[in-house]
Amino acid sequence: MDMWLKEGQISDAAMTYKIKETLVRKQTEYQDLAILDTYAFGRMLVLDGIVQTTIKDEFVYHEMISHIPLFTHPNPKKVLVVGGGDGGAIREILKHPSIEKAVLCEIDGSVIEECKKYLPEISSELNNPRCEIFVGDGIKYVHEHKNEFDVIIVDSTDPFGAAEGLFGGSFYKEIYECLTEDGIFIAQTETPFYLPEVVKKVFNDAKAVFPVTKLFMAGIPTYPGGYWSFTVGSKKYDPETVDLSNKIDFETKYYTKKLHKACFTLPKYIENLIK
Ligand code: SAM
Repeated sequence: MDMWLKEGQISDAAMTYKIKETLVRKQTEYQDLAILDTYAFGRMLVLDGIVQTTIKDEFVYHEMISHIPLFTHPNPKKVLVVGGGDGGAIREILKHPSIEKAVLCEIDGSVIEECKKYLPEISSELNNPRCEIFVGDGIKYVHEHKNEFDVIIVDSTDPFGAAEGLFGGSFYKEIYECLTEDGIFIAQTETPFYLPEVVKKVFNDAKAVFPVTKLFMAGIPTYPGGYWSFTVGSKKYDPETVDLSNKIDFETKYYTKKLHKACFTLPKYIENLIK
């Protein structure tokens, strides 16, 4: 009998993945954690039944959530990742030679542990000396660190449970305080097709705090709708108009300098949503 994961992130629609093997399944202090080996996407991290990242398509999300802000800031040295326990964002951040320190603030230490064991391709740089791991709540960490980071990446689960407070509202004011005077913030901000009200609220909450606020899209096959939004809040630099001509080139599979500009060109229904 075949085994399938039926993902229920969206209440009235689901995606299913045929499972080859369950590598680990445990209830942590925060969530139901599973790492499955699947026929279509290879090994994948699943938290509370929701696909977080897979060997086959993780490059899209991790490259775009990291390189858009890091190529927009002229000289990023210190970066904070809130969430991101799989290590994918850290791997991409450390490709930038200017980075002196990348702090990972992940609330659930089991995610780090199991991703190091079963997803080495994604968690490969978590032992890098430039990476500092802090296991704790990102809301508290951001509140306790002021004027410290050039870039803050909120690489979280979806807006419920421990991650609920990471979306919009007062948290974005805290993020603003935690950034340096020309800092940039980015967050994954859900699907405009299935959850337009979430995307709209989060974007407007960011716009109320940051002088430059932009939204871009990326095609992520394992996220509901296959088409995902990211919101950038910047104190000074515009990610859409930044001059990329003198930026270094390194190996990527999705991000390109042309795409960096093009991804901010939105379909009409999304433009209207955030108008
Ligand atoms: N990088 C993956 C992707 O491609 O979408 C998903 C992100 S990562 C697995 C999401 C992480 O956010 C989870 O490991 C979860 O434990 C963490 N998280 C949720 N709420 C948090 C909070 N308040 N502070 C820190 N980490 C949090």
